[in-house]
Amino acid sequence: MSFAQRVTLLEEEGAYAVLARAQALENQGRNIIHLEIGQPDYPTYAHISQAGMDAIAAGKTRYNPPAGLTELRQAIARQAGAQRGISLRPEQVVVAPGAKPGLFFTTLALVEPGDEVIYPDPGFPTYAAMIGVAGGVPRPVPLREENGFSFDLDTFDQTVNSRTRLIILNSPANPTGGVLPLNDLEHIAAAAFKTNAWVLSDEIYARLAYDGLPVPSIASLPGMLERTVIVDGFSKTYGMTGWRLGYAIMTEGLAHRVELLLTHSVGCTATFTQIAGIEALNGPQEFVLTVVEEYQRRRDALIAGLNSLPGIHCQVPQGAFYAFPNVKELGLPSREIARRLLDEAGVAVLPGDDFGPQGEGYLRLCYATSVENLQFALQRIGEWLNKI
Ligand code: PMP
Repeated sequence: MSFAQRVTLLEEEGAYAVLARAQALENQGRNIIHLEIGQPDYPTYAHISQAGMDAIAAGKTRYNPPAGLTELRQAIARQAGAQRGISLRPEQVVVAPGAKPGLFFTTLALVEPGDEVIYPDPGFPTYAAMIGVAGGVPRPVPLREENGFSFDLDTFDQTVNSRTRLIILNSPANPTGGVLPLNDLEHIAAAAFKTNAWVLSDEIYARLAYDGLPVPSIASLPGMLERTVIVDGFSKTYGMTGWRLGYAIMTEGLAHRVELLLTHSVGCTATFTQIAGIEALNGPQEFVLTVVEEYQRRRDALIAGLNSLPGIHCQVPQGAFYAFPNVKELGLPSREIARRLLDEAGVAVLPGDDFGPQGEGYLRLCYATSVENLQFALQRIGEWLNKI
């Protein structure tokens, strides 16, 4: 029996595959340092979990409106608007079980078969997957290491055209940790106006930025809110990856269409999860800053360590919790390095080409783990490099 093309072209997400292999080795008694999967290493903050548990105890376990609880949509409009210096109405907010459905369903709502979609290479693998499912034509644009992993704007200019329907941005970025500078966003916005393209701006890491650097949103540029979908969520900022809670912000007209896709697929997002989300946004925020300081300390330890290793050099990531070291001098394919680091050194990392062809020659390391673990990992990588 055959399957529809839209599913045969889907591939496994590398992080899950490496995690499974690392866990299999652990089951054999091996000690593995996990730098592969991108999630906070701390549990959901107690007051947020308590709000979710209280909601279950109070019987908040029934269906709710497909676009989300009004109180949560109001809290998101307030917080997400203030963060980006824009004014948002709750009707522009669509709540979903994670940021991923926000990405997927807006793509399905906008992209017709044959429409071209620009996206970063290396980039989050879900972008290529959802473009494929929508029947769009993938037009990856390389990110340049020498520019802090922002777009190669010359290639961008050669790629964008009147068939471009959607431009996907991700800042701060997975897997590179790069932040798109305001000048580049202005350049991309001008191209979107000229070609009448939509922009899908994945800002899930917007609050995880370092050195006090502002993370500009393309949605804040004049006129851009009319053609931009902002995707954000609770997974990374509040340590809520398993709760499944995210949102997308867009024009009210598009929001209604995305709401219909949610109605006929997931139905709605879990009610108690949303109540926990209201507590996350309306409750104390200081600990988010404390966590960002801690990530910055971890980043500094990891990048200094990587740059002291022979054959490896690494840009200083400005946001998210990923390092994307260049390992081209080692003369081995990224995939082989990642596999051998896991098997021979007990350090789980991802090969850069899991994120697109331009990721070849790089590795992705997630530093959402203790400085102590990072030091152990660096020591093991260093010893392995001495052996090869
Ligand atoms: N966008 C990017 C860039 C991500 O790295 C991730 C998580 N790995 C997501 C979206 C998905 O977030 P969520 O778990 O909220 O669906």
